[in-house]
Amino acid sequence: MTKTKYKLLVISLFLIGIITLTKVDAITNELPLLGRVIFVDPGHGGRDPGTSYGKIQEKDIVLEISNILRDQLSEKGAIVYMTRETDTDLSSEWDERKKRGDLYRRILMYKKYNAELYLSIHINYYQDTSESGAEVLYHPINAQNKIFATILMNNFKTALGSRRKLKTTDLYMYQNTTVPGVLIECGFLSNPNERYLLQQESYQRKLSQVITDSVITYFNN
Ligand SMILES: [Zn+2]
Repeated sequence: MTKTKYKLLVISLFLIGIITLTKVDAITNELPLLGRVIFVDPGHGGRDPGTSYGKIQEKDIVLEISNILRDQLSEKGAIVYMTRETDTDLSSEWDERKKRGDLYRRILMYKKYNAELYLSIHINYYQDTSESGAEVLYHPINAQNKIFATILMNNFKTALGSRRKLKTTDLYMYQNTTVPGVLIECGFLSNPNERYLLQQESYQRKLSQVITDSVITYFNN
């Protein structure tokens, strides 16, 4: 090989390298969740409506939010599974304790599909109708839960003006899985203003966006 040919070869390889790196960079920028396995878990369903106000039921609103969240996470490259996609609960007709059976099967799904993160979507209710704001609860069974919960709660404060605080939970479902994840209470059905907002697609999108951004921050760290 002549010197000139050798120089040309080196320059070509160098350029190919730059182009490849730029492409990889572009993919990671556009698809920051590429290949991440995430479970979106709309609470309740079927025989279990969750909390309600008149005909407005938690199980329906959390499914709407979860569908939007699934799409937003998928657009960022994640492999997203849902614990339910219709108005059903996961208990079996043989379960003596239906609620326990329902929650147990949700946990089994995380394990079966090797979930890296689960997001349980719920809505709050309180006698004092002035209570409002999205909040995050976690179980200290692993270190990641608190890390993700802190990111998300801070984003709820800055992006949605929530004044709520990070809390822990020892509910059955959260103390029985080591898969990282949190319980998200999207707002209060008991608060008239938030009750209105939670039913609006625009607000559901905003909520989902905050959750999606938080998931990206979590996996980037
Ligand atoms: Zn709930």
